[in-house]
Amino acid sequence: MPASNTDPDCHAGQPDALAQLQLALREQQAILDNAGVGIVFIKRRILIRCNQRFAQVFGHASAADALRSSNMSLYPNEASFHALAEAAYPVMAQGLAYKSEVLMKRRDGQLFWTHLTGKLVNPADTDEGSIWIVDDISERKAAQAQLESVLNEQGLILDNAMVGIVFLRDRRVTRCNQSFETMLGYAPGELHGVSSRQWYLTEQEWIDAAERWRAPFAAGQAFEGEITLCKKNGTPIFCEVRAKAIDPNDPGHGAIWITMDITARKSVENELLQARANLEGLVELRTQELRRTVLELEKKAAEQEVAEAHIQRLAHFDALTGLPNRLLLSDRCQHALSAAQRAQQCVALMFLDLDHFKNVNDSLGHRVGDEVLVELAARLKAAVREQDTVSRLGGDEFILLLPDTNAEGAARVADKLLQTALMPFQIEQHELTVTPSIGIALYPKDGADLDALSKCADAAMYRAKEDGRNSYRFFTAEIQAHSDRTLLLHNALRRALARDQLELHYQPQISMETGRTVGAEALLRWHHPELGAVSPAEFIPIAESSGLILPIGEWVIRTATTQLMAWITQGMAPITMAVNLSSAQFRHADLPQLVTSILEDVGLDPGLLELELTESVAMTHPLGAIAVMDDLRQRGVRMAIDDFGTGYSSLSYLKRFQVYKLKIDQSFVRDITEDPDDRAIVGAIISMASSLGMQTIAEGVETEGQLEFLRARGCTEAQGYYFSRPLSAVAFGNYMREVV
Ligand code: C2E
Ligand code: MG
Ligand code: MG
Repeated sequence: MPASNTDPDCHAGQPDALAQLQLALREQQAILDNAGVGIVFIKRRILIRCNQRFAQVFGHASAADALRSSNMSLYPNEASFHALAEAAYPVMAQGLAYKSEVLMKRRDGQLFWTHLTGKLVNPADTDEGSIWIVDDISERKAAQAQLESVLNEQGLILDNAMVGIVFLRDRRVTRCNQSFETMLGYAPGELHGVSSRQWYLTEQEWIDAAERWRAPFAAGQAFEGEITLCKKNGTPIFCEVRAKAIDPNDPGHGAIWITMDITARKSVENELLQARANLEGLVELRTQELRRTVLELEKKAAEQEVAEAHIQRLAHFDALTGLPNRLLLSDRCQHALSAAQRAQQCVALMFLDLDHFKNVNDSLGHRVGDEVLVELAARLKAAVREQDTVSRLGGDEFILLLPDTNAEGAARVADKLLQTALMPFQIEQHELTVTPSIGIALYPKDGADLDALSKCADAAMYRAKEDGRNSYRFFTAEIQAHSDRTLLLHNALRRALARDQLELHYQPQISMETGRTVGAEALLRWHHPELGAVSPAEFIPIAESSGLILPIGEWVIRTATTQLMAWITQGMAPITMAVNLSSAQFRHADLPQLVTSILEDVGLDPGLLELELTESVAMTHPLGAIAVMDDLRQRGVRMAIDDFGTGYSSLSYLKRFQVYKLKIDQSFVRDITEDPDDRAIVGAIISMASSLGMQTIAEGVETEGQLEFLRARGCTEAQGYYFSRPLSAVAFGNYMREVV
């Protein structure tokens, strides 16, 4: 503190006045001591007097401690001391108070800020000293510095915040940071004083927004939400905002808004939402597809199950009658036989075949035939016990398996079956009866398995048929021999043609009108070196079932026509040659062509050949038969229906067959002299044939009486032992020469 030569103690006056002065001094001292600022009187750079506060500020225990020292010690250094003196004395010299904030030094060396006021006691004379008031403002200064740094920091935060921050008062910008400006596309400072309406898309949105934050502001709460704002260039941006009134009680203080552009986030979110929606849509679609697929699969599986059940049924049951088929029968038979073996019981296997059932099919149609079979199946099932199996092999063939029975029991069942089959079947308008033939084989006597047993039952069934049908037969050693013979014949027949064992015999056919032999029927003969003569009735069925009938049949046609041609060449008057056709030949597609080529080879007039076809063969496939017969007729060959009366010819077909001749079966001819029924039948056949323009020939004519009857009824021709047995070629040649 600059020195002053003014002495404050120097005063003079009256005693009263002295007392008053002393009082005044005491009062001044009290004031000085109690002042909140440090006060010091300095004269010639020495601290002369100071108050308590001064001493305290500079770190002295009492005012007395502080005195008598140089005022230089109050400053950080000499330079600062002189700098102050230079600044202060020119001012103080003018009588003015010098005021400044000055950095000073406490006793312990600590520097601190003061507000210093200095004044010269006598501006005209610096020696009188100076008075300084020292106000320690270090705390205030520190607080201010702190405030400044806080403000600085805040400013930094504000300016560098990633979010937009704006202070609004009366909805106008008082301050905002750069992020806010950048966010809305404004230049720095451009928004100052601007109304917030500026960044709303419409007036209405601006008004509505105020409605949203009014209540939270008033409640002292923050408003948080998403608002669409508008950039300077008009682009809308989506913002997340958080705003709060600075003073909830006084809206006039405005509010702070923290704003964040979430357009990008929103669009990503939207895209995500969209993607999610798409995905969900896709998933839903797939789910539906899957559900559909699953449903379809389930449906397929169900269908498959039904189909499999159906297949299972088809595999084990006959489709027409619902009876077990051969496969299931075989299974049951195996069980039955092994059970019988354990229990030492007998099992019966029955083979049941309907007699002439083909005729039903041929004449009334397959539908009627099927219905007969269905009805018969039901009857058979009803006639046997629960543990018995009735199965169908196909056609009109049934196999019955009767466990735990014996010959007696089997015979009883067979009787019952014959009875039950005999009851007439009423199908549509038809009432028909069928008769079965039954063959029975017994386990263990006749065989040990289904194969062996069914062969025996089959053979026994054939025997039943041979014995007049509508009956049952047990398998016997004799039947065994018969089936052995069938096998034997079959093997021998295979070599018969090559070994020249076959021969044709010829039986004359006589015209009723002239009594002349007008034709011959070629009948096959087989002479085997060991077996001897075998009847065609025996070997022809074997040839048919083995297919051997085709080469044999061709040989017959060729031999018979060649023979006739030879006779004619030798001078015999031309007669017709009747040749029997088997069904296998007739069904063969090449037949008409074969016949023509043989006739051409032989050089015989086709009109001299007559082909005999049995009634049942013609009726099997009537339409096919008509076509083949037409073809043959057009080639000039005559057709005759053999064994007429045994089948179920329908009149309408008969007419369409356009056959030349009907051969009345010998079974009718045999009894015509006695049996009125046969007479009636034969009579009817003859008159029907003549009305259809057909010839008739009676076969098996053996007596004069038969001949007379036939002639009287108008039968055109006759054939039989009465005239001649079938003769060898040579014998027939002789016969012809004799009778002519
Ligand atoms: P079918 O064609 O009805 O022949 C008539 C059968 O009656 C012949 O028997 C004949 O010998 C016999 N017969 C002729 N007159 C009399 C008579 O007055 N009284 C008796 N009781 N019988 C008489 P056969 O020769 O034993 O032939 C039997 C059957 O064999 C023939 O019946 C025919 O269906 C078949 N057959 C014969 N030869 C052939 C052939 O070359 N081919 C074909 N597919 N079948 C033939
Ligand atoms: Mg014949
Ligand atoms: Mg015949």
